[in-house]
Amino acid sequence: MSENCNQNCSDCGEESTGRKAAKTDLTENTHELSRIKKVIGVVSGKGGVGKSVVTSLLAVEMNKRGYNTSILDADVTGPSIPKAFGISEKARGTELGLYPITTKTGIEIMSINLLLPNETDPVVWRGPIISGTVKQFWTDVIWGDIDYMFIDMPPGTGDVALTVFQSLKVDGIIIVTSPQELVSMIVSKAVKMAELMDIPILGLIENMSCYKCPDCGKEYKIFGDSHIDQIARRHNLEILTVLPIDPKLASACDNGKIESFENNWFERIVQILTAKQEEKPQVVYITKEEKGGKTLKIAVASENEKVTEHFGHCINFNIYAAVDDQIIHCETIANPGHKPGFLPLFLHEQGVNVIISGGMGAGAIDIFNEKGIEVIVGASGDAKKAAERYLQGELQSTGSVCHEHQHHGECGN
Ligand code: ADP
Repeated sequence: MSENCNQNCSDCGEESTGRKAAKTDLTENTHELSRIKKVIGVVSGKGGVGKSVVTSLLAVEMNKRGYNTSILDADVTGPSIPKAFGISEKARGTELGLYPITTKTGIEIMSINLLLPNETDPVVWRGPIISGTVKQFWTDVIWGDIDYMFIDMPPGTGDVALTVFQSLKVDGIIIVTSPQELVSMIVSKAVKMAELMDIPILGLIENMSCYKCPDCGKEYKIFGDSHIDQIARRHNLEILTVLPIDPKLASACDNGKIESFENNWFERIVQILTAKQEEKPQVVYITKEEKGGKTLKIAVASENEKVTEHFGHCINFNIYAAVDDQIIHCETIANPGHKPGFLPLFLHEQGVNVIISGGMGAGAIDIFNEKGIEVIVGASGDAKKAAERYLQGELQSTGSVCHEHQHHGECGN
């Protein structure tokens, strides 16, 4: 494509890749009374995988944590957000613009269902009208001050999705999949679209992964085996969370009570969304059991490359991801600070299974044990060698607890 390309393909004979069109800034400004800090698009390959549910739950989670949160329902032909929040009133407009509806807990919502006279009316509009409507939700709605806006995208990576990503200033995309889908193809398409748009993919969420019997606790893979691990690795994406089929969730959506549905599924996403740019946690791409292979994440409390003597005093954590006892990925995460009791929870959120350190306080050991993380103390020397020795079964914990007063509070006591 020539440098002078004006995107009018009748003007020259050169083949257009469409890339320049994508890179050209076509983003529209929001209403002058809107200040939106972060915009996250939630996409899926097809309808019915739980994209709207995930969008709603993410908004509920961020709102619960005190952030001004909103949902822009861009799934114009299948809008289900108002129902999940039990909203039946209509949005109000003045000559200034359109006002979103505020949910019981304070989330701002705009959806086509808040404008149609009858919410069961089908929306039988062509693509450009749908895209135009979504754009107006961005430009004409008076959102006010918003920390996090979640966009429930139309399913697929077609024309409407593309226009939305070109017109709205989206900071990141989350892809929702379910085991019965052609996940590989969907993720490949979403990755290509995101590249074209220059928008980072924050990661994958697998919904309806399995059903856990409330009586015996056994897990049933209703939609078959998941291939999410391989796909995540192929595209170098993180699996942000895996959600079960939960009849209580379905009923909360049906009854407009999604705001009171309790779960602890989104810690990692909250961590990513709230991380300041410069301290964005690094990603280690293993979270679930790979087909037949045993996967482990080992954190070594370190001073650069050496195992630290005092856990809470460490400079960084070297995190080794291993499959079948072979280290396949290493990351270094700076010690985020040593408030008592904080680091074990922080490492738990990173998906760590084993922690190796020189010394450690009893308090920290207890929390690690509670979280099911194995604690190896008494290690020294090279951090990676310590992890390798652990994998070979050669590194045993001395079990000694750190009592040094000068480090009181820093070792997790
Ligand atoms: P999409 O937005 O992808 O079209 P929805 O979020 O509307 O899909 O979900 C489709 C249906 O599946 C809804 O009735 C919803 O309540 C239900 N559902 C989604 N995820 C789950 C889950 N994890 N457990 C139980 N029901 C779910």
